[in-house]
Amino acid sequence: MSAAEPKPADGSHAAHTPVMQQYLRIKAEFPDMLLFYRMGDFYELFYEDARRAARLLDITLTARGQSAGAPIPMAGVPYHAAESYLARLVRQGESVAICEQIGDPRSAKGPVERRVVRVVTPGTLTDEALLDARRDNLVAAVCRGPQAIGLAWLELSAGRFCVSQLAGEDELRNELERLKPAEVLVEEGTAGSPAMAGLPGLRERPPWHFEADAARRTLCAQMGTRDLAGFGCEELVEAIRAAGCLLQYVKDTQRSALPHIERISTECRDEALLMDAATRRNLEIDASLSGHDARTLVGVLDHCGTPMGSRLLRRWLNRPLRDHALLNQRYQALEALQARPADAMAEQLRSIGDLERILSRVAMRSARPRDLAQLRLALQLLPALRTALAVYDSPLLALLLGRLDEHISERTLLERALVAEPPMLIRDGGVIAAGFDGTLDELRDIAEHADGHLLAIEQRERERTGLPSLKVGYNRVHGFYIELSRAQAASAPADYIRRQTLKGAERYVTAELQAFEGKVLSARERALAREKELYEDMLDALLAVLPGLRTLAAALAETDVLITLATRALALGYCRPELCTEAVFEVRGGRHPVVETVLERAFIANDLELHAGRRLLVITGPNMGGKSTFMRQNALIAILAHIGSFVPAQAARIGPLDRIFTRIGAGDDLAGGRSTFMVEMTETANILNNATAQSLVLMDEVGRGTSTFDGLSLAWAAAHFIGERIGAFTLFATHYFELTALAGELPGCANVHLDATSHGEQLIFMHAVKEGPANQSHGLQVAALAGVPGTVIKRAGDYLARLERQSREQQAPQPQAELDLQPAVVADPLREALAQMDPDRMSPREALDALYQLKKL
Ligand code: ADP
Repeated sequence: MSAAEPKPADGSHAAHTPVMQQYLRIKAEFPDMLLFYRMGDFYELFYEDARRAARLLDITLTARGQSAGAPIPMAGVPYHAAESYLARLVRQGESVAICEQIGDPRSAKGPVERRVVRVVTPGTLTDEALLDARRDNLVAAVCRGPQAIGLAWLELSAGRFCVSQLAGEDELRNELERLKPAEVLVEEGTAGSPAMAGLPGLRERPPWHFEADAARRTLCAQMGTRDLAGFGCEELVEAIRAAGCLLQYVKDTQRSALPHIERISTECRDEALLMDAATRRNLEIDASLSGHDARTLVGVLDHCGTPMGSRLLRRWLNRPLRDHALLNQRYQALEALQARPADAMAEQLRSIGDLERILSRVAMRSARPRDLAQLRLALQLLPALRTALAVYDSPLLALLLGRLDEHISERTLLERALVAEPPMLIRDGGVIAAGFDGTLDELRDIAEHADGHLLAIEQRERERTGLPSLKVGYNRVHGFYIELSRAQAASAPADYIRRQTLKGAERYVTAELQAFEGKVLSARERALAREKELYEDMLDALLAVLPGLRTLAAALAETDVLITLATRALALGYCRPELCTEAVFEVRGGRHPVVETVLERAFIANDLELHAGRRLLVITGPNMGGKSTFMRQNALIAILAHIGSFVPAQAARIGPLDRIFTRIGAGDDLAGGRSTFMVEMTETANILNNATAQSLVLMDEVGRGTSTFDGLSLAWAAAHFIGERIGAFTLFATHYFELTALAGELPGCANVHLDATSHGEQLIFMHAVKEGPANQSHGLQVAALAGVPGTVIKRAGDYLARLERQSREQQAPQPQAELDLQPAVVADPLREALAQMDPDRMSPREALDALYQLKKL
């Protein structure tokens, strides 16, 4: 309740008008969300809600009369346009309670009865109009315990409910970054924790909403089970507490049964090829750093026919799997789908629609007539799809085929019951087909033939009265009437009862008209009521087989993704990767899946060779030479292979991988208040602390964010640490030429470079990866290419010559120039200092700290 709202001393709303008393009573139940209060053709908002909505929606703030001695701030939106306003509010993270008129205004004494019929929150949307078809929309809950952090998330519009348990804030941050929930429920007082910074839709819930026993009870009641053992989360106390709070929240807001939430999936981190938030961003999987969504991995691959397929593909790409057996099954399915054209199936899938979301609306009884028509179409397409799928020789496709139950009786029901093209809403009728129900047909017949009947009455009355301009008409207030002009009114027969006097006319009713009116109106109303009843019966019939229908939808989504991956792989020239148990990562003729599609020239394919004896590659070469592209393409190849996709290469052999780390680019985390260098070091520390021998690590220009000395020392130490201690497969791109010396010192370390040749003034990038270190720096040519004025280039050239002279004379380099020049040798004093440190007795963090102090050398 707003502070601005005048409140009587006794706390009651007695001083208010009756309508405002009702409003305040309802509003008190929804203190932390906007209340849309239906008044006639508008949803009105009052007091603080009105001010907030006026600000968020840019609508006019007005005032309504007086209540409790003061004008009431008010803002309103027309009810027929409410969806678009709702969409704008939820996009801004707001929740809205929608309060409808329930009673009949004609019969009500005092304010008509009103009730909140649904609560729209950003993470619990199921309405088609409010959702992005190609993206999941999730609500999540986080529960912190002494040992672990519980995370639960739900996609209500699909009934997908998952939990996992995490070891710390970093893991939590990564998971939240992967899932991108629209709303996150947290315990009171924890919204300010680091993992929550910048998250939209944070909602604090009181501690007892996370109570463990209550959570178990709520969950078991929902799943219809005695315990949670069957879902693999029995032991995960914090996860269960989070899930309990989440489920309760969704029940409170939806106010309807949720039969489509029938199980909990427990996600285990070991099953996935893990990526942290930075990696996911850097590799531009489903969002590009430049905001160009087409230039992402999803943008290149997603030609799915159904929105549910698109969402599944996104989920796969955000959580690649490590189970080689499963991945091989997918490769095999792709091969089968490539061997025989699958175009016809792809075409049919385009008409299938978003069954997953439709079925959730069926489950929540909010499905609209067109949802059911779409379901009917999908079921009609199924036999042909089944036949098409059956020809493929693939265990996985056979498994999916087995899940495509045709649901003949539901299809027949929908075919018989629903008109060909139903209207948007059931409210106005016209949804149930003629011939489906005898009672309905009869009622409709009476209602529809009213016109003919009225014409007959009109004709007869004209003849009886001899007044040819006599008219029979209808209006909402007075019902059916007979109208005579003022001049003719004198000749009205005695049985005409006067009802209404207009300027030039009089209107009458007769006993016959009144009786007819009763019959017609009640027939209309009864027909409508009967239609609603039949519609509900139809939902019941579908609900009875909901699990089977949901299995069908899931199998169609997966089939869609496999067909898409197969056809895209064929179109883009991808190959089947080979997974093996040895430690290798070899790619022949690899390409960057996104860069190759946007390049106007040909993409130069490059090989990668990593194995037990060659784990760390130091990559040198000029700026713009293709270092980042090469590193990223290999990470993307690894990801694609781990979702079961083919990869942009001629051949690829990949051993077990557990995580992908990246330290790429230098984006300031302005929102988080960290400098470029701090971000860089945090990401580096994360890699040094968490990477394993099975990880794939990409490091691009580590040390860039600080002075040459610091930067080089840090890069050198980090590479050394990874090469010597961790043994991860590492691609280390650097502009510190000194690092090429690592190959001579570290077993398993090798140099590769990207070539460029000078052609007079011009620099030509070859983009080809070659063995050995780069032999020249082309910094100045790149600068010239970028349009740096000639005089600056000239002076930089002089400066570079001086630096090189100095370094030959074994002197420390001069302070860094404005241009990012490469001081040729600065490493010797540094190496000495490092040699004196004993890295075996230092934690990675200590080693980095020590190196950081080297500035004082
Ligand atoms: P670096 O990291 O060495 O500065 P990038 O990887 O950013 O260089 O590559 C610079 C540009 O060169 C890319 O935007 C792309 O247009 C082009 N490029 C990179 N690699 C290739 C390649 N293998 N074939 C063709 N063009 C490439």
